[in-house]
Amino acid sequence: MQPKVANAFDQRDWMPEEAAEALRAHGCRVTLPRLAVLRALIEHGGTIDATQLTARAQCYEPGIHEATVYRTVKVFAEVGIASHVHAGHGPSLVRLAGNQQLVAVCRDCGAISPVPGGAVDQLVLDVESATGFVIEPGHFALEGVCATCAR
Ligand SMILES: [Zn+2]
Ligand SMILES: [Zn+2]
Repeated sequence: MQPKVANAFDQRDWMPEEAAEALRAHGCRVTLPRLAVLRALIEHGGTIDATQLTARAQCYEPGIHEATVYRTVKVFAEVGIASHVHAGHGPSLVRLAGNQQLVAVCRDCGAISPVPGGAVDQLVLDVESATGFVIEPGHFALEGVCATCAR
């Protein structure tokens, strides 16, 4: 089986052995907590906070603590498996490397919503044509109020 690369992470139906291969391909020692966190990230497929990621990882590794998930995500970021998104004043969000999706985070409930690409493409073009500045959205989340909290 060929080692997986970062841009293949959008395949949702990964088996544990494929997750293990991805870790090895990134020079990452395979441990049960790492497998659990990677499978949870792949299963979720988007941008997630550490608390929710921990809950998902517990499906594969019961008893895994949030502190372990934080450390694991840090290792993943170092080897290029995961990346972070800054959100407000809180802890960073996490997602698989290669995901550049801009997200919006609710300041009241913390809900994370993907922002449709079309919504920011025009902004990027307008700012560039007006000022020459090329905005690269995605590394920081937008902040606001989600549809549920706005009601
Ligand atoms: Zn950063
Ligand atoms: Zn909300």
